[in-house]
Amino acid sequence: MSLESLRPASPFPDRIAEIITIGDELLSGETVDTNSSYLDGLLEQWGWIVARHATVPDEVDPIARAMRDAADRASLVVCSGGLGPTEDDRTFEALAQALGCALVLDDDVLERIRARFASFGRTMTPNNERQARLPANGQPLVNEAGTAPGFQALLGRAKIYLLPGVPREVRWLAEHALRPQLDRGGPVIHRRTLKTIGFGESRLEHVIREVRDAHVGSVEFGYRAQASETHIKLSVRPHSHNETIDPDEARSRLDRAEADLRGVLGDAVFGTDLAEISAVLGSLLDERKLTVATAESCTGGLIGAMLTEVPGSSAYYLGGCVTYSNDAKVALLGVSPRALEELGAVCEVVARQMAEGVRVRLGSDWAIATTGVAGPTGGSPEKPVGTVHVAFAGPDGTSAKVLALPGDRASIRTSTARIALDQLRQLILVSSGTSER
Ligand code: AMP
Ligand code: MG
Repeated sequence: MSLESLRPASPFPDRIAEIITIGDELLSGETVDTNSSYLDGLLEQWGWIVARHATVPDEVDPIARAMRDAADRASLVVCSGGLGPTEDDRTFEALAQALGCALVLDDDVLERIRARFASFGRTMTPNNERQARLPANGQPLVNEAGTAPGFQALLGRAKIYLLPGVPREVRWLAEHALRPQLDRGGPVIHRRTLKTIGFGESRLEHVIREVRDAHVGSVEFGYRAQASETHIKLSVRPHSHNETIDPDEARSRLDRAEADLRGVLGDAVFGTDLAEISAVLGSLLDERKLTVATAESCTGGLIGAMLTEVPGSSAYYLGGCVTYSNDAKVALLGVSPRALEELGAVCEVVARQMAEGVRVRLGSDWAIATTGVAGPTGGSPEKPVGTVHVAFAGPDGTSAKVLALPGDRASIRTSTARIALDQLRQLILVSSGTSER
């Protein structure tokens, strides 16, 4: 009787994948393993369930063991790293060990490497030859984004793929070599994310609890919060590893849940999935032929930077002032020196004057202003760190809002910028009478 037949039937059928990332730098804090998360997303889209990640150093035995272990559990193993030309990259050697075969020089691959060097007007050094010494059992994968080829083989019952470590090369090989072989036509888990700004996770969960309850068994709800953005993550997933869900059915379940959530949350949902607040606000301004200007103190230009990240933002963003000192607020925006002296720079009056000042000076339809205490120093009992006044000057007057933001300096600044952009979006929707609520 073979060992194979003694092994219990795998509880996981053929769509379980594991990822192995290889490199000393991934275990010393030098390099963040972004390849795994990139591959996770891709494999999920292609219909795989990624069940495990392993990260191992550039040593033959640990790499080979990780490969064998993964191949025992999964039917797909994707590895990245350790294909470089130098002695410390050992992944080909490790796969040869796991496969129980030799490394042999692949003449075609060697020729490709030589040609690649020639195309850059350089000559190949002898160590680059290492990248053409490949396990005898398996096939190289052409890599037009770098020198090292990828590789594919069958290890036990699992397909195993070796990709380089450089993220750009991983992406190239994933698209050109992996996708044609591994895309099973759609995701196992169907997901949609609804995005809000300025809602705490717990408040959001409270507000939508009835909607969530109404979709139990059909759509799963999850939450994710980061620097004032809170996302509701909807997913439709199979109940067993064998089940597949019809994509149209999944879409209609997600559509129903999204419609119910929007019914409760109205304009508070600024977008779904890849939507960014700056782009969403930008499209709204563009559509309505409106312009905006900014006057920033504690955000130091962050709002202007976010607005101008969007291509085409010159259609609606006129410009802004970063007025960090009191003198700059007076000189550039016409803020009243008396208000600054009596109330301090962090107050509603100053925020309003900043917004009105920049709106008049640049002749925009709308203006956003921010002034606050980003910390870590500068807080007081009356105005603790995280106190931020934002003001919006528009065609119908000026409004203001005071925020009490948690977190460190970076998250207070990012939160302020996002909340300000989102507030302006909601003000525009209300002012033109197209609010969903
Ligand atoms: P390697 O092919 O292993 O020599 O990797 C080349 C470079 O790619 C490394 O020096 C890292 O900067 C980067 N790299 C390797 N593995 C990863 C990973 N898992 N995530 C992100 N970057 C990586
Ligand atoms: Mg390496």
